Amino acid sequence: MTNLPKDAAVFNLIAQEEQRQAQNIELIASENIVSKAVRVAQGSVLTNKYAEGYPSKRYYGGNEYIDQLEQLTIDRAKTLFHAEYANVQPHSGSQANEAAYRALIQPGDRVLGMDLEAGGHLTHGSKVNFSGKTYDFYSYGVNDQGYLDYEAIWQQAKQVKPQLIVAGASAYSRIIDFRKFRKIADSVHAKLMVDMAHIAGLVAVGLHPSPIGLADIVTTTTHKTLRGPRGGLILAPAKYAKKINSAVFPGTQGGPLEHVIAAKAFALFEAMQPTFKDYQQQVLLNAQAMAEVFNQDEQVHVLTGGTDNHLLTLDLTQTKLNGAQLQDLLDQIHITTNKEAIPNDPLPPSKTSGLRLGTPAITTRGFQANDARQVAQIILKAIHHYQDQQQLDTLAQQVLQLTTEHPIPN
Ligand code: PLP
Repeated sequence: MTNLPKDAAVFNLIAQEEQRQAQNIELIASENIVSKAVRVAQGSVLTNKYAEGYPSKRYYGGNEYIDQLEQLTIDRAKTLFHAEYANVQPHSGSQANEAAYRALIQPGDRVLGMDLEAGGHLTHGSKVNFSGKTYDFYSYGVNDQGYLDYEAIWQQAKQVKPQLIVAGASAYSRIIDFRKFRKIADSVHAKLMVDMAHIAGLVAVGLHPSPIGLADIVTTTTHKTLRGPRGGLILAPAKYAKKINSAVFPGTQGGPLEHVIAAKAFALFEAMQPTFKDYQQQVLLNAQAMAEVFNQDEQVHVLTGGTDNHLLTLDLTQTKLNGAQLQDLLDQIHITTNKEAIPNDPLPPSKTSGLRLGTPAITTRGFQANDARQVAQIILKAIHHYQDQQQLDTLAQQVLQLTTEHPIPN
């Protein structure tokens, strides 16, 4: 730390972002607050090292410690998720998905994945994404109550006859039945890939059924409920090891980010501690507490009426605000959220009729169910008094009090 450049421009921006994170209530469902160990790993000398290849099969010298480190991370991932094989190199969830597709199917093959508007991810077949451009994607949605309808998905699978079915979502608040997805895939001779990016932390502690052992390949990010560094991870039966390894490197990536891999190792260790289960339980309780408050409101509607996981999506069609407007309004009072399309959304993705809320980050700061209820009440007041600046100032003060009472842990 002695030779830091005097680059005030960058340092000031980092300091300002640090202050923003300290003062704001973070409700973006895909974000979390990592431990100091995870941040230290990412700022370590490991960032200097090139290590193309895999442990003991590298294209560069000097990897004796890197090899041990990557192997340790692989072993931890396998242990935590009870998987036969793990690849810890994907730089992101999107790259994990790209590699998984390459390992399972050929360009042009038919794939059935969840619709973006219904809660799926860009990499599950969006036309603007590599997935939709490379493969022949079809999409399933949710029923009028907002639930996955396995019977309808089965009927669709019989018509589409996909080579691959993708399960998993970015904005779905209910348990996903991976057994049913496996049955559907088997009945049409398709492979099954599960993207558990959002729920990986819940899966790790048994609070959501695991797709391991059911899916051909499971992908995840490491930075959402799992509370690790930004990055990806692939889990699979040992028989896929060779295909997945070559799909990641040299198929879609060059040198692995070993500093991020070390951070993944720290996060996986943290996820193995008993306190991590307590944390995930509180994540659920906090999301359910928020849903209860919203359910008492006449204008705001919670999709599916509640949640089984860390997130909920508000349907705003009966309010005076769309998703983009509410996101901006909440930014003003220091609550960070993201607009979200709802099923059959009449508005374009730049506006949307929904707002997605998640509890991983506030729970890391120690928010309990009462605090979560208070946050939901603040959001409702903002919606109902969106033109009343005095009221909004009062709400901003309440937010500041909550974040001061629950500082970001060191
Ligand atoms: N898969 C799902 C279900 C996601 O929600 C996301 C990100 O939000 C990703 C994959 C992609 O992750 P990344 O942003 O690391 O590429």
